[in-house]
This record gives sequence, structure tokens and C-alpha cells, in this order.
Amino acid sequence: MPAPHDASPSRCSRRCQWLLCCLLTLVGLALTALLARQLWQDSQAHVRHQFEHLAEERFARLDTRLKERQRDLDSVRRLFENSGEVTRAEFEQYTQPLLSDNLALSWAPLLQLDAHDPDAQLHAFTQHAEALVGSHFRLREADHAGNLQPLQARDRYFPLLFSVSRSIAELPLGLDMASPGPRRDALEEAINSQQIGASAILRFTSGAEEDRLGLLLVAPVRAAASTQHARVAEAPLLGALFSAISLRQLLDERQATLGGLALELHDLEQAGSPPLYRLGSPVHDSPLQASRELRSGHWHYRLVLRPTARFLDQHPSLAAWSVALPGASLSLLLGLLLFVLLSQRQRALALVERRTAELQRNREALRISEERWTLALDGIGDGVWDWDLQSDRLYFSPTWKALLGYAEDEIGDSPQEWRDRLHPEDAARCEHALHECLAGRTSMYRCEKRLRCKDGSWLWLLARGKVVERRADGQPLRMIGTHVDISRRKTLELELRQSNARLQRLLEAASQVAIIGVSADGLIRTFNAGAQRLLGYERGDIQQQPVDPLLDGPQLAASAGLSVPPGGALALLEALLDPQHQHRELETILLRRNRTPLHVTLMLSAIIEPDGQRGGYLLIALDIGERLRARQALEERSQLLEKLGAQVPGSIFQYRLFADGHSCFPYASAGIREVYEVEPEQVRGDASAVIERIHPLDRQRIIDSIQQSARELTRWQEDYRVQLPQRGLRWLRGESVPERLADGSVLWHGFIADISSLKQVEHELRTLTITDPLTGIHNRRYFLDHLDIELERRTRTRRPLSLVMLDIDHFKRVNDTWGHDAGDQVLQELCRRIGARLRRIDMFCRLGGEEFVIICPETEAGQAAHLAEALRQLVQDTPFAQVGAVTASFGVSSARPGDSHESLLLRADQALYAAKDAGRNRVCSEPQFEEA
Ligand code: GH3
Ligand code: MG
Ligand code: MG
Repeated sequence: MPAPHDASPSRCSRRCQWLLCCLLTLVGLALTALLARQLWQDSQAHVRHQFEHLAEERFARLDTRLKERQRDLDSVRRLFENSGEVTRAEFEQYTQPLLSDNLALSWAPLLQLDAHDPDAQLHAFTQHAEALVGSHFRLREADHAGNLQPLQARDRYFPLLFSVSRSIAELPLGLDMASPGPRRDALEEAINSQQIGASAILRFTSGAEEDRLGLLLVAPVRAAASTQHARVAEAPLLGALFSAISLRQLLDERQATLGGLALELHDLEQAGSPPLYRLGSPVHDSPLQASRELRSGHWHYRLVLRPTARFLDQHPSLAAWSVALPGASLSLLLGLLLFVLLSQRQRALALVERRTAELQRNREALRISEERWTLALDGIGDGVWDWDLQSDRLYFSPTWKALLGYAEDEIGDSPQEWRDRLHPEDAARCEHALHECLAGRTSMYRCEKRLRCKDGSWLWLLARGKVVERRADGQPLRMIGTHVDISRRKTLELELRQSNARLQRLLEAASQVAIIGVSADGLIRTFNAGAQRLLGYERGDIQQQPVDPLLDGPQLAASAGLSVPPGGALALLEALLDPQHQHRELETILLRRNRTPLHVTLMLSAIIEPDGQRGGYLLIALDIGERLRARQALEERSQLLEKLGAQVPGSIFQYRLFADGHSCFPYASAGIREVYEVEPEQVRGDASAVIERIHPLDRQRIIDSIQQSARELTRWQEDYRVQLPQRGLRWLRGESVPERLADGSVLWHGFIADISSLKQVEHELRTLTITDPLTGIHNRRYFLDHLDIELERRTRTRRPLSLVMLDIDHFKRVNDTWGHDAGDQVLQELCRRIGARLRRIDMFCRLGGEEFVIICPETEAGQAAHLAEALRQLVQDTPFAQVGAVTASFGVSSARPGDSHESLLLRADQALYAAKDAGRNRVCSEPQFEEA
């Protein structure tokens, strides 16, 4: 999907395109306009040039014609000048050839009248003229309208004498050419200028219509130049020659020679009047025009040439549109073409961009996919290879190299890298598989092979690959694939093979166990050596045969507590199986070949195929004939044990303690009824009844000692009390030896005996050892033991502890006086009195002879002194039987930190002797001790 911001540059470039195309079109149009203008101007200039050239030619031709006519006239003039008198015949003869270009040629001699008798002169002239022309001759003149009038009186006349004409009627002879009008103007000008003059445009009164307009050329004729006349002008004027020329002759030309120009002659003296002469129809909107002004003293004409349509046709000027239109079209086309090209380019660029982006995305996706793929393959530890067959380069992934123990840069990219490492035994097989795949005969290349690792060991690999690119002719171009480490699988396969072989050997070796495999259709598939031996069949005879002859249906069913199901041996086996575990273990019989029963423990298992289907049954039979006999012997021995146990005092037992703390007496002889007052059956599954009987003061100790024995597997031996319902408190002694069983529980074997009487004796003995036999109070030994205990307690509790020591005064005398027995009685009486006075926690001991000591726990020195004083009085105040008053001396000491029984006792002894020294029958305390 294109990003939203892509639109803006695209719009921008689209606008640029438009601008560029418009610009190009405008430039093209401007260039076209310039070119068209230039071409048009050139064309106009060319036409103008043509026109001007033609006009010049026409003007030149006019001049030429005029000059020719002047020459004609001049030649006639020279005739008159050089001849004395020209006759009419000579004149006509001479002028006849000139009539092709002149309408008429006339000779008018000058008639100069003297002041006297002009009429006579006129008459004479008339006579002479008639003689010359040979006909009637009358002098006249013409008015402005051309009508002949009688001659006006003047001093000189130029009467027309000879005249030849081609087309127009001859002028009347005798017409005075100097009569007022354009002829006279021309005549005078010619005479004055001594040149051939020309008249204004005249309208001839006769002649062809097209030649009616014309002019007269006038040439004054003077007498031939002579030495008399230094200048021509001074020569006498003889007359004048006239030549009539039609404008048509002068100006007109046939259409072909006209060259397509129109001609107009304007009289400038009469402004606004229509042209005097017009030839051809000009194109009015053409700016082309050429004019020539013709002037004399009396007239002023302008000759104008303009192009006609024919001229413009023959000299067409280049029409601007003929360039502009194709140019503009071309510009527009170019602009359009550029736009199309730019659009195409833009579209192509956009397409390229889109394709590039797509390619980029694809490449990115491909890269990610490839990365993921490589990562995935790397992750599962597969090596990847990519073979470009064209360049014969083979890419190995880092994992591939790592599989063989190589670093990334230690293996190149040549196919030889793996060929060199291939195990020789695998080479041919792998090359064949590869060749088949490359040739297209197999879709996948697959080969298990060994490659040599860097450390020289061989690694089993599964190579898989595929040709992913081929030429049109099927030639492979690229192949990729993986190498998977299958060394573990190979090892497992090897182990499995070995294991299978071992199993087979085991089956064969198990001669005491019958192992029989039965297929789902009830045929025997496996029949091991043990089965052959126990059941008496040869494997070859029984294998692939039905299992039925081996089974005693009713017996089997009975062993499992079932009735025989219908459907034969298979149904029976199926019925025997425990549905949950698909297994059953039972003691039953199998039938030998000779039909005798074989007592066995039969382990029947269902064989479940990997797909969950019933694959058959496995029968493992252990011969228990021997065991049955052993069991019988054991039972007998057990009975013997029972009998013996019944005779033994106490109880023989097995005690089992499980890991969860639960315990029981799997075996207890009948004596347990006496020692614990429980039934053996009562404690077979649970020993708690026995535990409860143990005296609360001993129970925890016994439990702890059992635990310790279980931990350390040491002999257990304890004396403890039990509280029995019948016989009350009894002392028992237990002894047993533990063993740890397979399930982690511990089993003790031992006995328990009632030792209550033994304990009694023990107690008495002990009492004796700590008691003074004469007085019944504790003896010195007990005193010392007990003082140590009290000293420890004092150290622990920081409570005070004091000793009161006493010694009967002069006891020797009592003995000496009253006898030893009386002495003994004094000792006993004294002990009784003091013992009655003491607290329960005070400990009264006889140290020896008539010396005693009292341990006073939690008693300070002062309190002990008070006690001693009270006891002294107790002795002194009451006389003793037979012997009378007896006194005693007391020494008091209190325990100090760090005291031993010796030091404490020594200080009491010292206090006592201080009392003796002070006179006896008194209490003496040890010196005050200041505790830091
Ligand atoms: P003193 O005041 O200095 O203690 O004088 P004493 O006579 O009591 O002291 P002495 O140690 O000299 O005499 C102790 C006598 O106690 C000596 C001995 O005959 C007598 N005696 C010791 N044990 C017994 C006994 O168990 N029974 C009798 N009857 N007399 C005993
Ligand atoms: Mg004494
Ligand atoms: Mg004494």
C-alpha cells in the first residue's frame, strides 16, 4: 500500500510536467511565430523585389519606347535640317516605316509674319503649301474642344503641311499647331528648350478607340547648322515636327509582357480626378506600388504600377499561416508528445518505484523468512547448503560448518569441501542419489552419510535437498538442502540392534522362564528355550500353531476367579487381562506336551501396537513347582517357630516401619499377648496399639531410638515402661536388628521380654548405693553428685546456693560414755529431727561419722545462717534419749562464681571449725564475699 505522503510528490511532478509541456508548447509556438514572421517578411521582400524589378523594367521600357519615338522624330528632323526643301513624297517615303510605332507624323513649318501685310504672307504660304501638298490647303486653328475655327491673328503660325497616319484620320492640313492648347504648350516648350518636347495627354478625335488617348512629341526644326550660327539656338527655326503616339503604344503591352502589373496614369494637376489611363485591375489591398512622375512646364503626371491578381498568383508571398499552422501543430504535438513521454516516464518511474518497493518488501520478507528459516534451522541445529550449479559454488551455513566443528572461515564454498570429507563407504551411494535427483528422476535428494569432522571423527548426517531451479531444457541450476545430525539416531539404532540381539540371546538364555508370544490371531510367534524346556515342545513344532493346547481353560479361569468365556483361547486371554492395566499375574497351570500340568506364575500382558491396536499377548511363565515346595517347607518352619515362640518368655517379633511413619508387626509370637496385652493379629497391620501401651515418660524416647536405629541400621535395645490394662506398670526390654527393605521400609527382627522383677532389684541396689544405711539419709557420694548438679544449676540460673555443715560436739564422749549403740541412736535421732525441719528441696547428707551437710538451693548466706541457727537450737533444746543434751556446731558457706564442690565444701568446713574453735554449739558463716 503506498504511503499517504507519496501523493504529494506525484502531484508536484504532475504539475511540473504540465508546466514543462506548456512551456515547450509556448516556446514552439513562439519560435513558429518568429519563423513564420521571418519567412513571411522574406517572402514579402521577395515579392516586393520582384515587383520592383518588374516595375523598373516597365519604366525602363517606357523610357526606351519614348526615346525610340524621340529618335524617330529626331531622324525626321535631321532630314528636314539637312535637306533644303522636303517634298511631300519624300516626307511620306521617309516616315512611312515609322508608322508602325507612331500613330502619325506631321510637319508644320514656321510661318513668321511681318508686321506689314500679314494676310499676304498667309496667302503666299497657302499657295506654296497647296503646291507642295497638291490639294486644297486652308489655315485654321482648333479650339479647346478640338473643333476647327478660323485662324486667329498672330505673328507666327505652325500650319500643318505634311502628315502621315497609320490608323487615325489625318489631321487637317493647315491646322495651326500653335493654336492655344496643349499642342502649343508643347511646341513652345520644345522651341525654348531646343529639345524634343511632349504634350499633355490628349484625346485624339479620330482613330481606333484604343488609340484615342495619346500625346504629341514635338521637335523644333532649325536650319542646318552653319558656320554662321555658332549655336544651334541661333539657327533660324524652320518649323516643327509632330509625332502622335497613343498611350496604348507607349504604355500598353500584351498581357504576357505586362507581367501581371496594373498601370494607372494620373493627372496630378487635376487632383481627385479619375486616372487618365488605366490598364489591368490592381489588387487593392496590396501595399506594393511603384510610381514615376512625369513633368513638364505644363503638365504633371504620375504613372503608378500596382500588382494584379495574376502577379500575386505568379509571385505568391508565403502565407504566415502556412508556416504558423504546421509549426503550431508541431509545437502542440511536441508538447503533447513530451507530456505523453513524461507521463509515460512518470508512470514508468512510479511503476519502477512501486515495483522497487514491492521488491524491497519481497526482499525484506524473503530476508526475514530466510533469517527465520535459517534461525529455525540453526535453532534445531540443522546445517543448510545452497548449491549454485552454474558457478559450481556451494554455500554452507555456519551451523553446517559448526556441525563438523569448523569455524565460519575454515570451509570455503566449493562442492569439493563435502566430497573430500565424505566417508568412502558412503560416497558411491550419495553420488548416485545426488545424480538421480539432479537428473530429475527423483524429486528429493536424500542420503544418510558420514562426514569427517575437524577432529577426525565421523559424524552421521542425513542430507536432504531439492533442485529449486532448472533451465528450460531441464538442466539443474540451483539446489538447496539441509544436513541433520542423526548421529544420536544412528547410535540409538545401533543400540536397538544390539538390544534386540541381546533380547534374543536373553530369550534363548532364559531357560527357567517360558516366554511365549501370541499374535492377535492366536498363533504362537515366539517360543523361547525356557518354554521348550518347561513345556516339552520343539520350537519348530509349535511356532505358528494355535496357543490353545498350552492352556487349561477351566483351570486358568478358576485361578482368576472367572468362568470360562466362550470363544476359545483368545477370548480367555482377553478375559483374563485386567482392563485397566492390560496385565494379569496369577498362579495357574500350563499343559505340557505330555498333558501333565506345569505349575507356573503366569504373567499375561497385552501387546499394544504403536497405533493402539491389539498386537497380541505375551505370556511369561515361571515354573513355581520348586517354589511351591519351598513354600510348604516354610510353612512347616513357621509352625515350628510358633511353637517355639509360645515357649519363650516374652515375644519374638518382626516390626516394620514404613517411610510414611506408619508401622506394624508383620509377625509377633503369642508372647505379645503377655508383654503388651494385645493380640498378634491386632498389630499385624498397625502397631499403634503397642505404641499406646508405652509409658508416656518413655514413649518419645523409644520412638526416637527406633528412628535412629532405622537411620543408622544399628541394633535397637531399650528398657522402657508400659502401662498395661491388666497388670499395670511393667518394665520391658526390647532388642532387635534392623534391615532395610527394597521399598525403603525398615524391618526389625527381635524379641521383647518383661524385666519388671529385674528392674526392682536394680532399683533397690541403686538406693543402697546413695543412702547412708544408719541414718537413711543420702551418703557422701550422692552429696557430691548432687552438689555438682546444683552448682551447674546455680551457674545457669544465677540463683543463690548455700551449704550448712554441722558436726556433733564431743561425740567421742557420747560413745565413750554411753556406748556405740547409744551413739548410733543419737545420730539417727538427730537426722530425724533435722530431716523433718528441712524443705523438700533441701538435700540432707551424711558426710561421714557425726559430720553432716545440707545443700540449700535458692538460699542466700544470711538465710542459711538463720536455718543453721534454728537447727542448732533444735539439737540443743531437746535432750536425746539416754544420753541427754547434745549440741552441734554449724559452718555456713555460699556458692561463689567459679566454685567447685571442693571449694564450696572447704569454706563450709573452715566455717565449721571456726565455730568449733569459738567454743562449739554455735553457727559460724564464712567471711562476707563481695561479688564484683
Ligand atoms: P569434737 O567436739 O571435737 O568433735 O569432739 P569429738 O569427740 O566429737 O570428735 P572426734 O572426731 O575426736 O570423735 C569422733 C568420734 O565419733 C569418734 C568415733 O568413735 C565416733 N563415731 C564415729 N562413727 C560412729 C558411729 O557410727 N557410731 C558411733 N556410736 N560412734 C561413732
Ligand atoms: Mg564431733
Ligand atoms: Mg567429727
